Amino acid sequence: MFFLLFGTARGEWHSDVRPKMGTEVSVYFWHDDEASAQAIIEDVFAEVDRINSLMSTYVESSRISDINRRAADEPVVAGEELFQLIRRSLDISVLTRGAFDITYDSVGQHYDFRERRRPDDATVEAERKHIDFRHVELEQGTASVRFTESGVRINLGGIAKGYVVERGVDILRRHAVEYGVVTAGGDSRLLGDRRGRPWMIGIRDPRDEGEVAISVPLEDEAISTSGDYERYFDEEGIRYHHIIRPSSGRPAEGIHSATVIGPDAVMTDALSTSVFVMGVDDGLHLIGCLPDYEAIVIDAQGEIYYSTGLADPAAANSDAAYAAPLPDTCGRS
Ligand code: ADP
Ligand code: MG
Repeated sequence: MFFLLFGTARGEWHSDVRPKMGTEVSVYFWHDDEASAQAIIEDVFAEVDRINSLMSTYVESSRISDINRRAADEPVVAGEELFQLIRRSLDISVLTRGAFDITYDSVGQHYDFRERRRPDDATVEAERKHIDFRHVELEQGTASVRFTESGVRINLGGIAKGYVVERGVDILRRHAVEYGVVTAGGDSRLLGDRRGRPWMIGIRDPRDEGEVAISVPLEDEAISTSGDYERYFDEEGIRYHHIIRPSSGRPAEGIHSATVIGPDAVMTDALSTSVFVMGVDDGLHLIGCLPDYEAIVIDAQGEIYYSTGLADPAAANSDAAYAAPLPDTCGRS
């Protein structure tokens, strides 16, 4: 009897998945007490709801909707938390030379992927003039935001899910959970490992929902994938999807999915969107300049490309893979 109890691992995996933020949010973790685990699950989803009601442009009463309505006329108080995420977004715009730009929404607002609605050419041409992160001015002291002209809109859809999973894992950690995952759509934050084994995270085949293209073993990291299959419709052979190239105001072409791995889900989320916009060469070059981050890109021909830190000799020798050259141009403009 004594020896039976001794050898048994206490605890089990707990999980839940709910539709949130226009996608699915899930939490999965190890815990030894059923009631506490249920309470933790509720805490995580309450946090998702809180962030969504602050940051979603689909929620009329959100702070960000208020900013979009009024910030061209006067500074609007964002509050510390939203202010910081907007600030980080603008920093990432500088880092990606405008590939990531939360003001994409002047054009983005005219899409409705469920209704197959898209802006006509005249609307794209008129609205894309308002896409420029430099139209967003921040006032640190009051944590307020102001737009330099009317017509500017911001949308945190390219970074907010990363923030949500990062906050979700904070909650797990605060409850002394050691092993877990929080996922929101294409963004996952891992806590620890899978009790002695790495988590195996599958990157799906961009053109076959049921198929995994690549599986990556990971521990204690974040991984985000941006794909042209998340929200889209096809019309006369053209795929209209949700990742907008700020310079053209049109959906970015050339890539089917971009995955970024690294220590912080806010960054991996924003960077996966950025790499998608930048394309294989510029995207992998950027990632090569960020020592903690790696990327896996699947282009429109189905070719798979790895950033330098991931390109192992086996991969580099195969026809399907390409190891990006070590960049010597980081930080230069
Ligand atoms: P998801 O996890 O929803 O697939 P991604 O991380 O790929 O999202 O980001 C796509 C979302 O980012 C879009 O739905 C839109 O809200 C927003 N977005 C689109 N284009 C840009 C851009 N150039 N810069 C910043 N955000 C963008
Ligand atoms: Mg993203």
